[in-house]
Amino acid sequence: MKIFKFGGASVKDAAGVRNVGEVLKHFALDDLLIVVSAMGKTTNALEEVVWAYVDGRDAVPKVDALAAFHFGILDEVAPEDGPSRVALEELFHSLRTLLKRPISLDVDHYYDQIVAFGELWSTTIVSAHLNASHITNQWVDARSIITTDERHRAANVKWDMLGYNCEKHLPSFAHGPVRIVTQGFIGRTEDGDTTTLGREGSDFSAAIFAYALDAESVTIWKDVPGMFNADPKRFPNTRLLEHISYKEAIELSYFGASVIHPRTLQPLQRKHIPLYVRSFIDLNAPGSTISEATDHDTLIPSYIVKPDQLLISITPRDLSFIVEENLSAIFNLFAKRNVRIDLMQNSAVAFTVVVDDNPRSRDLIEALRAEYEVRYNTACELLTVRHFDEATLTELLLGKEVLIEQRSRVTARFVTKPR
Ligand code: ASP
Ligand code: MG
Repeated sequence: MKIFKFGGASVKDAAGVRNVGEVLKHFALDDLLIVVSAMGKTTNALEEVVWAYVDGRDAVPKVDALAAFHFGILDEVAPEDGPSRVALEELFHSLRTLLKRPISLDVDHYYDQIVAFGELWSTTIVSAHLNASHITNQWVDARSIITTDERHRAANVKWDMLGYNCEKHLPSFAHGPVRIVTQGFIGRTEDGDTTTLGREGSDFSAAIFAYALDAESVTIWKDVPGMFNADPKRFPNTRLLEHISYKEAIELSYFGASVIHPRTLQPLQRKHIPLYVRSFIDLNAPGSTISEATDHDTLIPSYIVKPDQLLISITPRDLSFIVEENLSAIFNLFAKRNVRIDLMQNSAVAFTVVVDDNPRSRDLIEALRAEYEVRYNTACELLTVRHFDEATLTELLLGKEVLIEQRSRVTARFVTKPR
């Protein structure tokens, strides 16, 4: 079995959905499980529905727009498929019913129930189109396979239940190659509540299915021809990373390279399943391979930029030692508010961190001020360079003021501001 993953950008319109069919024609003999994300920016639009709903504003116009968009695509790519139209109608009906109910549970719980529709809609449409194009397939509800805990919006997978779930819920194919179409991003608790795995979690879903099925490989089909040593939108002369190790890819995605979701690699590494990142636009492009082999890791310096960072410096008001007496309490506050630390540094009485600038981080600063003296710098950039050389560093830092610098043998990191 091969696992294919198509992200939101690859199915953002009818042409995108048709292109999925075109890609699959090149794999006529392979057993495939196809993981699909919500179409285009649907998840963002559904988040808007959630916020409207919890604020008591009218969410119906937003749902109407989403319905028009999805039915429009279905009409183009599978006009004759009555049952799929009914299935899509039923999904929209369930969402509208949910929005009529008064709010009684916590926001994150509602978020998952509502936002999950994006993937249910997209897979209904993709599956219908493939069937209409004689790529006979079965639509599978990913929630019947991916059991999770109750941590809404960032659910943890119950790995030991995957085998049983696959046996029970995956269809068997008597003839021809296996074709399963299923959702990324979503799961379900043992009590039957829908959960999500965190934004951009569909790559991770593909890896979960690969792990469960001992797949031969995972391919993430993207609008870029692979993983690059830097963001091509930001830097000229970027180079394709043709072959890198799991470890290097985990480091790169941890530092902010946005091509693959960071959690994707661990399950694949555990089962030695290679990950291919390939272009759904240019099927002849070689793409990137991520696997065990490490020989190529050090050949090309990679650089990753995170813009809009806050540099926060935290000092106890009584000047007590930061590490021994305060750090665990501070970490707790970060964890509770779900603020991810991108870089940290300490002196005797100060702890300095770099985080994304967003409302959660700003709230955290206010909470910290109850006990600590907090100062911060806005509009910083965090630059990470793997396998650096001095010439590259000089060039990258030109015209920038460096506020913090950290170096290990392979990685150099800088917090900068424009001069
Ligand atoms: N649709 C979800 C999101 O946009 C999951 C994904 O695209 O990977 O976050
Ligand atoms: Mg998406």
